[in-house]
Amino acid sequence: MTQPVPVQYTLRPVSPEAHLFEATVIVTHPAKDGQVFFLPAWIPGSYMIREFSKHIVEMEARAGGKPVALRQLEKNRWQAAPVKGALTLRYLVYAFDLSVRGAYLDGERGFFNGTSVFLAAEGYENEPCAVEIHAPEGKAYADWKVATSLPAVDIKKKSGFGGYQASSYDELIDHPVEMGEFQKVSFKACGVPHEFVVSGHFQGDLKRLAEDTKKICEYQIKLFGEPAPFERYVFMLFVGKDIYGGLEHRASTALVANRDDLPAPGAAEVSDGYLKLLGLISHEYFHSWNVKRMKPAAFTPYDLNREGMTRLLWAFEGITSYYDDLALVRSGLICEKRYLGLLAETITGVQRGAGRMKQTLEQSSFEAWTKYYRQDENSPNSIVSYYTKGSLAALALDLLIRRDSKGKQSLDDVMRALWSKWLADGKGLEEDEWEKIAIETTGLKLKPFFDLALRSTQDLPLLELLKSQGVELKFEAAQGASDRGGVVDAFAGKPAPLTLGVKTAADAAGVKLVQVLDGGAAQQAGLSGGDVVVAVDKLRAYDLDKQLARLAAGDKIKLHAFRRDELMTFDVAPLAAPEDTCRLKLEAGGGKWIAGR
Ligand code: ZN
Repeated sequence: MTQPVPVQYTLRPVSPEAHLFEATVIVTHPAKDGQVFFLPAWIPGSYMIREFSKHIVEMEARAGGKPVALRQLEKNRWQAAPVKGALTLRYLVYAFDLSVRGAYLDGERGFFNGTSVFLAAEGYENEPCAVEIHAPEGKAYADWKVATSLPAVDIKKKSGFGGYQASSYDELIDHPVEMGEFQKVSFKACGVPHEFVVSGHFQGDLKRLAEDTKKICEYQIKLFGEPAPFERYVFMLFVGKDIYGGLEHRASTALVANRDDLPAPGAAEVSDGYLKLLGLISHEYFHSWNVKRMKPAAFTPYDLNREGMTRLLWAFEGITSYYDDLALVRSGLICEKRYLGLLAETITGVQRGAGRMKQTLEQSSFEAWTKYYRQDENSPNSIVSYYTKGSLAALALDLLIRRDSKGKQSLDDVMRALWSKWLADGKGLEEDEWEKIAIETTGLKLKPFFDLALRSTQDLPLLELLKSQGVELKFEAAQGASDRGGVVDAFAGKPAPLTLGVKTAADAAGVKLVQVLDGGAAQQAGLSGGDVVVAVDKLRAYDLDKQLARLAAGDKIKLHAFRRDELMTFDVAPLAAPEDTCRLKLEAGGGKWIAGR
């Protein structure tokens, strides 16, 4: 049994076939005027109001064996009538969300975040709580096990079902739980036990996955300085088809990826899919320092009922995105040229969005809740990503510090200074504090850079900064839809093909315009995101690039497209592709910063 604490939870996967968890909360000393319970409206790390309470399908309260009246106060808050003695709340939660942000249960596995299943007892958020996690009943589930970084108190050694404890509600909801017949590999990084749990159907080399992950972990632990800020760490990966994502937690991370991204048994190379998976692993692990511990003051504590707005997301997501791929080079998993290829693609991605000329990084951070997390067909024209442009701002800052300190300092020193501050005071960063600490640490005049990079829509000075590292950058016209830029031995200077300025997707009826980019030929002719092009000059549309390939500059074509169910005709004059595709050329002896030299 777990020790007596003021709030005790139990969680049972009562009906895997109906995707239902049953939860109970016992409050030993409920509030005198009626205990209030609430469920978070969002989950930290994913900045969107998600209304998890919509998945609660029934709820009842009891005390002394008798029912107690419950009144709903708000979308996610309930109050029980005043009672003497312990109060028990029981409810069911529908769990069929495969993402890392929610809860999932079927006959094959279960997964949950506390934000989906554990109602908080108001007034007790800072008190310890206990959780009893049960296995589903029945022979079919005899081999199910539990994986979680939640501290165990009294669990079955073989399966992990049983009692766990958290020191507060904030801690309780920061340890997701996986259950099922997963596979597990263990390793130590800088002496700290790590587990890598993989669920879903797959054939993959988990031994190699563990060896490679260990290298990433050890690089990051040493970057910030030993000891690691946790006693053990759990990676929870579910693999399926066409899925990708991760969410960071204080001692674990939940990941979803494509099963084919796992390293194939016997393979030695790093496939593009595996590279993406390693980047995701590296990204979420870096968050153990950058956002799970060091974080904006606006998140200390998190207000789980409404948006927590901060202008600093560029620092917590952008810098994490900068280091995620760098860590792969610095831990020896990929070479510098491969890294530069990834960097070129990121630069291209940012350059292609006209939104970068309308929204600053600070605005992008602040408006994440309504814009970045709620994207639509117009997003490339209206917003810039605090992930991708944020990572380029981190790169520019790193190179600027290296150049102006004559190689004596780097962004690593700023990160370590921020970490020392957190270790000393544990406080969140005020909105202007990140910049102040960077300026203090380096002694450099960085204010003009921050004004430009964070508070203006001017392009970052990447050309000159990369040049200072022996890397030449040139923007050229894309040679087709799949050209996202890359590393070259020489700039080709090929002529620009004609384009419509659209992003497309296959559609049963023709070619769907997913996005229509600012300034492009399609927008000038009146086409919109969502239109389905069915014919090009009366011929069936199947591949717009190919169908434009034989046109000369100045030629006009007729596009026939459905907008909703209405057929429309557009006169379009395709334009030369803009020079928005990043090519990087590494000079002999250049790019030393990539390996951290
Ligand atoms: Zn992140």
